[in-house]
Amino acid sequence: MTTVRKPITPKPPRTREKVLVILQEQCKACSLCVEFCPKHVLCLTEDKYNRKGYHPVTACDIDACVNCEFCELICPDMAIFLVDRKVAEAALEAGTVEEGTIVPEYQKKDEKEEAH
Ligand code: SF4
Ligand code: SF4
Repeated sequence: MTTVRKPITPKPPRTREKVLVILQEQCKACSLCVEFCPKHVLCLTEDKYNRKGYHPVTACDIDACVNCEFCELICPDMAIFLVDRKVAEAALEAGTVEEGTIVPEYQKKDEKEEAH
């Protein structure tokens, strides 16, 4: 019997096919998505109000998102959903994104880049 040591290779970074999109102006802060997200990705904003006067939902830990789409299914106002990464990137680049729309994954990247 020979024992061969397996090579140690780092895990490739996990890339999600889809990105989370939140229409904050459409959110009525019912917290359903916050309560039912299995990975505790979502939370309500504390210092922000939308036009309806609610503290809209945001992502507190976007890295934990597993693209399960549960938030999209449960939201009664269609204010949160997942979009194919390429489609989201094209829309952001073209500036065809509705006011109050946030894509937390990219915001995080922008914030990191600004910090450097
Ligand atoms: S897709 Fe799933 S894991 Fe990601 S925010 Fe929505 S409910 Fe949470
Ligand atoms: S995104 Fe939808 S489910 Fe989540 S708090 Fe807002 S209205 Fe409720």
